[in-house]
Amino acid sequence: MYFDEKKLKDILVSPGHISIEHFNEALNEAKEHGVSIEEILVSEDLIKDEQLGQLLAQITGFPFVNLRNEAFDEAHFEMIPELVARRMGVVAFGRSEDGVKVGMIEPGDIETRHAIEKRMGENIVPYFITKRDLKGVLSRYKASLYEEFEKILEELKNPSLPQEERDKMTIKVVDTLLAYGYQNKASDIHIEPHRGKILIRFRIDGIMHDVLEIPNNLLDLILTRIKIMSRMRTDEHRAAQDGKFRFEVDSSGSVDVRVSVVPVVEGENIVLRLLSAANRQFNLSDIGLNDSDLSKVQEAIDNPHGMILVTGPTGSGKTTTIYAVLRILNTREVHISTIEDPVEYDIEGISQIQVDKKTNLMFADGLRAIVRQDPDIIMVGEIRDKETADIATNSAMTGHLVLSTLHANDAATSLPRLLDMDIEPFLIASTINVIIAQRLVRKICQGCRKSANLSSEEIEMVKRNDVAMNLLLAKGAGNLDKLVIFKGSGCKICGSTGYIGRIGVFEVLLMRGNIKQLVIDRASSDEILKIAKENGMTTMVEDGIGKVLNGVTTIEEVLRVTKG
Ligand SMILES: [Zn+2]
Repeated sequence: MYFDEKKLKDILVSPGHISIEHFNEALNEAKEHGVSIEEILVSEDLIKDEQLGQLLAQITGFPFVNLRNEAFDEAHFEMIPELVARRMGVVAFGRSEDGVKVGMIEPGDIETRHAIEKRMGENIVPYFITKRDLKGVLSRYKASLYEEFEKILEELKNPSLPQEERDKMTIKVVDTLLAYGYQNKASDIHIEPHRGKILIRFRIDGIMHDVLEIPNNLLDLILTRIKIMSRMRTDEHRAAQDGKFRFEVDSSGSVDVRVSVVPVVEGENIVLRLLSAANRQFNLSDIGLNDSDLSKVQEAIDNPHGMILVTGPTGSGKTTTIYAVLRILNTREVHISTIEDPVEYDIEGISQIQVDKKTNLMFADGLRAIVRQDPDIIMVGEIRDKETADIATNSAMTGHLVLSTLHANDAATSLPRLLDMDIEPFLIASTINVIIAQRLVRKICQGCRKSANLSSEEIEMVKRNDVAMNLLLAKGAGNLDKLVIFKGSGCKICGSTGYIGRIGVFEVLLMRGNIKQLVIDRASSDEILKIAKENGMTTMVEDGIGKVLNGVTTIEEVLRVTKG
């Protein structure tokens, strides 16, 4: 964070923490050495790091935490990969009622906060930390490959290094790079000649991070090594080449790597895609779809045209579900285009357009432009108005597979909602394949989960919900007091909240013939719900109760998110 001179003076000199002479000396020295004045003040012992941190935190308006005094545990620490911590200046160190406590050198940086929240899938509570503190904490990451990497590069600089050693070192450079990428859950490693250097960048959770710059003279060595590994022609420098290899990771198995080398002005660009890492993210069963719902969704996805709708209120995890489906559909054979507001994750191989209010590129216009390019699959971020709904249903009608989200309470109410947008009933009936409705519930912490009986408050809650009560009575042999469920009793890992992370509860409505008829007859959502249940749909409450009985979440969570 950049603290301007005047603000620093206001908090340091005016209240008398530091004399103006010392301040000015430190300022000059900082300019001379190209470091921050905070660094100088602490290293010259003009102020204690802790006190300075407290004062700087006042400028940022966020609470200060001294990480060296904080007894934080590995479980939180590991939530953020080392590279992200290093590049973004963030450290997860605990948990409170409101979310994961994250120390940040720039707690006011909304973009970074957003990126971290996306990675964790839950709220964060930002604290201010000093750069010194961050540095100290980074060394706690187990065997930092970053330092290992720097050590190898240092050795390679030695001009008297025998060729045999040099070759060994190059192999080590590539291996370390792959291991470092894997450790940080990178989906892609980019090696690019850039302004006389080689720039190495990782894509993690869809975001590109500059990792390091290495000397240009290593490019040929690295290129040759990677070309040999992926069985490419080493003497070809003017044509693009594709290849692949398998990389062994110590104890955790192997990773398939897809390699693309493309000639550019300054040499050749290398992109390594770590396949298992990319596939690890956003799996449909990871987000909470049970087996029977999963097979229904799979059935709908296998249809090459029609529409897949995900519904729920804001913050119910709709986008994550849509991306999970897109990842399944994203094969080389199909052309996928999206129009989103905003583009939340970059997916390689997909053309993604962002809604732009400034140039007035809205969903409807973007969608029109996309349709002209004749993609096989189209994702529209959200259907908000009749115009967008019209183009979406017409595209689905003319042989495209369309994915979108809709703001509706549950699966059954989505259909009358589309009718309200003046879409022809027969169009809705003939295009929609499946509607997935969802909510997010908090997951019980595995660190402190234990079996329990329902409390009297919970029994009261259950009694107000017929569906939940009947399901639980069936399980509890007619007696709610005897029912065994699970709870987090609270521990260090979950910050005494009993919960960690979130998972979806779902209902999946397949458009069978009798449902289509109801749409054409403009039936009410109650009638649609009744028939859908007869067809075998389990509602969100039912799916949620299943997750309660399996010890995934609590009755309180399920009733909270599904009410109203
Ligand atoms: Zn716990």
